[in-house]
Amino acid sequence: MNDKNKNSGKIFRQPVTMRMIFCIALFLCLTGCSKYSIPGSTGTGGSNGSAPQKHKISFFAMDTAMSITAYGEDSLFDGGNSPLDEAGELIRSLESGLSVTDENSMIYRINHAAGNEVPIDAETAELLENALILCQKTDGALDITVYPVVRAWGFTTGVYRIPDNEELNELLKNVDYRKIRTSFISDSLRSANSVDDPALESSGSSAETESDSFSKAESGLYSIRVERNMMLDLGAVAKGYAAEKTADLLKKRGISSAVISLGGNIKTIGTRPDGSDWNIAIAAPIIANNDSSTDNSDEQGLSDASASSEPSGYAGILKVSDMSVVTSGGYERYFEEGGKHYCHIIDPATGNPVDNGILSVTVIAEDSLLCDALSTALFVMGPEKAEEFWRSSLKDDQINGFDYLMITGDNRIIITEGITDTFTVDPTYSDHSISILYHLEE
Ligand code: AMP
Ligand code: MG
Repeated sequence: MNDKNKNSGKIFRQPVTMRMIFCIALFLCLTGCSKYSIPGSTGTGGSNGSAPQKHKISFFAMDTAMSITAYGEDSLFDGGNSPLDEAGELIRSLESGLSVTDENSMIYRINHAAGNEVPIDAETAELLENALILCQKTDGALDITVYPVVRAWGFTTGVYRIPDNEELNELLKNVDYRKIRTSFISDSLRSANSVDDPALESSGSSAETESDSFSKAESGLYSIRVERNMMLDLGAVAKGYAAEKTADLLKKRGISSAVISLGGNIKTIGTRPDGSDWNIAIAAPIIANNDSSTDNSDEQGLSDASASSEPSGYAGILKVSDMSVVTSGGYERYFEEGGKHYCHIIDPATGNPVDNGILSVTVIAEDSLLCDALSTALFVMGPEKAEEFWRSSLKDDQINGFDYLMITGDNRIIITEGITDTFTVDPTYSDHSISILYHLEE
């Protein structure tokens, strides 16, 4: 791995440690999974006699199947309040706080404030701030105000339709993250905002430091204002944020070996108990028929037959430790009309579902929120812009580089140099050409 990828970023940490592996072993890992396998050891792993035990919970939240697998001595998990149960509760509480439809959620209150300022708590401010930074950095490929367009296509209900241009143009007038006004623009956001971006305008004092602004939040001084016809939706980053918060909680409870799997968002803590990397299977972005035999479909609840969309296998295995691996895929939610595929990721510039030849993008970095935001954004950008963005990200103090794996409809797998030694392509994908992107020496 390139030294340049060492991370010193203020917000997003992400050193990628690469090993020389490039080996086979994938069939070891393809058991018992939906989108990703979390092939654990068989329950023991310590070589010093005190074998850490495997503990796992599975549940459904944020519209997807989730599981958390942690290894450790039983004493860590005993007692009234197991860390895994606590993590499940945390995710559910984040889900209700971030829901666009739950009338008691913070996001609902912001969206229904008729253009008025709404006080928010420090956590929501932190999430919104990071999301806004990434909207700005990705030049609006990620835009947390795209919800009305997502809804118009029917992706929120499964009752799909194709809005005409007039309707889309009308809706797009209210899609622009730069119109969001906040009272909590911290130094980190200000420095990210090197160009004059009205979106990031703050009503707070310009001398305010990050820690000052967060202590203000505790006294109710954070606020946000969204214009009357605008709506926020953090769906593209919520699972990444939840994975980060869950990892923080588990680490505080003494857990040093775990995999948090929130739908297509994987966050690993440490290594497997025996010190080896986790094997993360990258979903094959295959549009499966309704009779998909894979389990735990995220999409089983959808009524539209064409929306059953579980991938049917794996494109390969990625070995990671202490990293996040997050995939956005056009197969996750979509419909078909007149032989055309319409996916749930929208290009905010046009209001149309992305149709640029990308089937899926997996982003690998330490911070899950970053990965979640970027997997959606790179999907929107398309192969060329994504590559450009990746190249420029190394010079960005806050992102400090990341890796990605992109699968395209013309049988290409594009990977960045940091994962060349840790990604093993599945034999079923051997007909795909693999391109490796290297950072150019200055
Ligand atoms: P993800 O699965 O993380 O890629 O997020 C996709 C979800 O984010 C969709 O289901 C939409 O709710 C929402 N979304 C779609 N397109 C965008 C976009 N360009 N920017 C932000 N959110 C989006
Ligand atoms: Mg995302």
